[in-house]
Amino acid sequence: MNVADSELVGGILRDHGYGFTGNLGDADIVLVNTCAIRENAEQRVYGRLGLFNRQKKKNPALVIGVLGCMAERLRTNLVDREKLVDLVVGPDEYRKLPALLSRALEGEKGVAVRLSRVEHYDDIEPLRTEGILAWVSVMRGCDKFCTFCVVPFTRGRERSRPRRSLVDEVARLADRGYKEVTLLGQNVNSYRDGDEDFADLMRDVAAVDRSLRVRFTTSHPEDMSVKLIEVIATTENICKHVHLPVQSGSDRILGRMNRTYSVDQYRRLVRRIRSAMPEVSLTTDIISGFPSEAPVDHEMTMDLLREIEFDGAYTFKYSPRENTKAWAMVDDVPEEEKGMRVMQIAELQHATTLKQNRNLIGTVERVLVEGPSKKTETDYTGRTDRNRTVVFPRTHEGRGDYVDIRIERANSATLFGRRIGEARP
Ligand code: SAH
Ligand code: SF4
Repeated sequence: MNVADSELVGGILRDHGYGFTGNLGDADIVLVNTCAIRENAEQRVYGRLGLFNRQKKKNPALVIGVLGCMAERLRTNLVDREKLVDLVVGPDEYRKLPALLSRALEGEKGVAVRLSRVEHYDDIEPLRTEGILAWVSVMRGCDKFCTFCVVPFTRGRERSRPRRSLVDEVARLADRGYKEVTLLGQNVNSYRDGDEDFADLMRDVAAVDRSLRVRFTTSHPEDMSVKLIEVIATTENICKHVHLPVQSGSDRILGRMNRTYSVDQYRRLVRRIRSAMPEVSLTTDIISGFPSEAPVDHEMTMDLLREIEFDGAYTFKYSPRENTKAWAMVDDVPEEEKGMRVMQIAELQHATTLKQNRNLIGTVERVLVEGPSKKTETDYTGRTDRNRTVVFPRTHEGRGDYVDIRIERANSATLFGRRIGEARP
């Protein structure tokens, strides 16, 4: 989501004549896009600002700006008290950036952090440089108010972009040679445009070009409709991967989190998804150490993971966020205990994914080539429809081609194999 927002900001600045450099020493302006979801994300931003301020000592004219979710929360700290930055701009105020930047270059500080009920930047073409994979924000904000989560406060109310213009944007991406689009939203499946819902949008986006893979993230269990499951299951180029954050396996904790479903409802939803798509890849998010989470609640989460056998799980230590309802609850699970629980969940998940990956040895997977692998220039890397990373010896195909790979080896993060023949979906 932040990559997509940075591309949006890039688009606005490009339209106003700004150029870009990857070299800090050459820059007149440096902008850092921030995330406020957990404390450690914020700590990293402070680290980065320290680095930029050292650069400012060498070049006092350098303008430093903070964008995104930390803006509202930390504006007074950052601009007035710590004097670390010249500019603070929240996620709904990016249109003001060019004006604020010209003033900042004259030495004037600027702050714009108001949230909007309507801003969705529908008319702005993001500055995309990736070439093959594209992120398309279809809605912004969130109205769910889970008690741990700062998103409704930092990104404001839910609003969706018109379906027509999204379909046009995806058509332009396909024309430019993009091969995969990921539809993005904090709660992507609560997308609405008049009578049309997210399932309608997915169907229309997938119809733009059948050689284009379509993904989406993140979906809230409450809005995972039967219709949406049907559309994913029956549309060939919609990837069979559903990221469905469960957060906890304990009904008591889910209630205190205001997640609006019970473990049993979640379980039934998984059953419905798997019966429509037996091969689906299911991934999830877990928070460990939410206020009052007892060892028995943690065990319930472990049991749920054993039962469902997710294809992957992201686990986070609970991090108290100002303004949220949980901020008022006592953060009573000790840091060390949170760490232990996260580790146990990660180990359990690791074993499950390893088992699933090993089961794929001998099968043939269609892979979209993303480019040279990180470790060796002689290998390529790409992903399967179900979002598994595959590494294989370089073929004559290039980035953006589909290749059929027979899987020969696997660890819990990666599949390894070799090409059996060129193929297109
Ligand atoms: N809208 C998505 C989640 C977006 S935030 C959903 O509802 O499923 C991504 C993940 O960050 C969440 O699923 C949650 O697991 C984690 N997260 C959010 N707030 C957190 C907090 N205060 N502490 C720890 N993890 C948190
Ligand atoms: Fe945060 Fe997701 Fe809950 Fe919205 S639905 S409040 S983004 S966790």
